[in-house]
Amino acid sequence: MKILKFGGSSISNLENIQKVFSIIGKEQEEMSIVFSAFGGVTEELLKCADLAQSSDESYQVKLDSLEKRHLDIVKNLIPVQQQSSTLTYVKVRFNELSDLYHGIFLVKECTPRTLDYVLSFGERLSTYILSSGLRALGMETVYVDARDLLKTNDRFGNAKVDFPSTNALILGFYQQNPGIKVVTGFIGSTHKGETTTVGRSGSDYTAAIFSSALDASILEIWTDVQGVMTADPKLVYAAITIPLLSYNEALELSHFGAKVIFPATMQPVMKKGIPIAIKNTFHPEKAGSMISKVTGTGKMIKGISSMADISLLNIQGSSLTEVSGVGKRVFGTLAEADINVILISQASSEFSMCIAIQSKEAGRAKEIIDNEFHYEIKGGEMDPVLIAPNMAIVAVVGEQMQRNPGASGMMFQALGRNNVNVTAIAQGSSELNISAVISQADLQKALNALHEAFFLS
Ligand code: ADP
Ligand code: MG
Repeated sequence: MKILKFGGSSISNLENIQKVFSIIGKEQEEMSIVFSAFGGVTEELLKCADLAQSSDESYQVKLDSLEKRHLDIVKNLIPVQQQSSTLTYVKVRFNELSDLYHGIFLVKECTPRTLDYVLSFGERLSTYILSSGLRALGMETVYVDARDLLKTNDRFGNAKVDFPSTNALILGFYQQNPGIKVVTGFIGSTHKGETTTVGRSGSDYTAAIFSSALDASILEIWTDVQGVMTADPKLVYAAITIPLLSYNEALELSHFGAKVIFPATMQPVMKKGIPIAIKNTFHPEKAGSMISKVTGTGKMIKGISSMADISLLNIQGSSLTEVSGVGKRVFGTLAEADINVILISQASSEFSMCIAIQSKEAGRAKEIIDNEFHYEIKGGEMDPVLIAPNMAIVAVVGEQMQRNPGASGMMFQALGRNNVNVTAIAQGSSELNISAVISQADLQKALNALHEAFFLS
C-alpha cells in the first residue's frame, strides 16, 4: 500500500487535475490518495469569514465565485450523464456555507471552532469531486471524509491527534471497505463529532497519519516543485533538487520554512521508517527527493531555508540573572498562548535573551510576557520586552556539518561580503543547522549569497 498526497498547487485548475489523474492512472500498486482543497480555496474561505465577521457583505460575491469555480470543475471533469450527484453535492455544500457565513455575519464573530468547520468545506469539496472524477474514469474509488476516522482533541485550528483511536478506526475502515480510498486532508473531528483541523500543512500530516496506520511502503508527496531543493526555488533561481535526505535533515530544513515538507508531518512516518518521496506533479518523470533514515553522502550542507515575517523579542534587564526561572517562565507563557518559538539566542552575559517568533504574534507575545513579569518590570529588575520587527531567518542545514567546523565561518563570511548585517545567531544543539536573524530587506540577497557560497563554488 502506498499513500499519494496532492497539495493545493497540484489541483489548482482543470489542466493540473488532468495531470494528477494521469499520475494516479499509471499507478500499479495498491494506493490511497489524500487531497488538499483546490489551490487557493482555503485562503478564500478564510477571507470570506473575515469579511463576514466584520459586517462586510461582499463575502457573498466571493462565495458565489468559489461555487462557480467548483461547479465548473465538475462540469469539465465528469461526463454529463454522471454529473448530477456530484453537482448536487457541491450545491448543497455551498448552501450550507452560505448559511454559515450568514450566521457569522449576524453575530459578527467567527470562533476557532466555527472557522475549522468553515475550512473543512475546502477539502470535502475537492476530495468528493476528485473521487467522483476518478470513478468516472472507471476506478473503484471510495470517498473518505477523514472526520470519521481522524480523531483529535478540541484545540481548534491546531488539533492534536488521538493516535490509538485514529489508527484503530483507519484499520477498521480499510478492512470493511475495498477500493481506492480518496481521503480529505487537513480535517478531523473530536470524539464529540466537532470538526477540527490539524494545523499548517495539515494535508501532509493526514497523509503521514494514514501511511503510518496502514504501514504504507512509501508516502509520496506530489507538489509543484522538483522535490526538496537546496533553497526555495521561488527565492533562489539556482536552487537544485536534493536527491537524498535523512529525516533529520528534512526536519531541520522544514523547521526554518522549507514548506515543501512540514516537521509535524514527518513524525508518524519517521517512527515507522516509512520513506517519503517528494515529486513534481508537472514533471512526474523526474526523480524528485527521497527522505528516509539515510543521508546522501557528499555535501556538508544539504540546503538553506528561510522564514520571513519574523520579529525578535528582546528580553533584558540589569538584574535579569536574579530573576528566577526567566527562561522557564518566558517559554511557559508562550507555549500556553500557543506561540511558536522559532529560535532562541542567548548572549553569554545572560543579561539578555532573544526569541524569534512570527511577526503576527509579536504584539500578543509582548503583552503576555510583560504581564508575567509585571512585578519584576515594576521593580526595575527587568525591562519591558522590546520588539524588533521586519526580520527574517536564514538557516544552513546538513548532517555532515558536525564533522566540518568550517561551515559557520563560510556562512558569516558570505553574509559579511554581501553587507548583510546579522542581528542574532543560533546553532541547534543537534549541530544540524546554523541560523542567523537578519533584516527582511536583505533576505533574498542573503539566500543567494549563501547558496552561491555553499553550492556553486
Ligand atoms: P502544496 O500545495 O503541494 O502543499 P506548498 O506550497 O505547501 O505545496 O509547498 C511547495 C512550495 O514550497 C514550493 O512551491 C516552494 O516555493 C516552497 N519551498 C520552500 N523551500 C523549499 C525547498 N527547500 N525546496 C522545495 N520547495 C521549497
Ligand atoms: Mg503544503
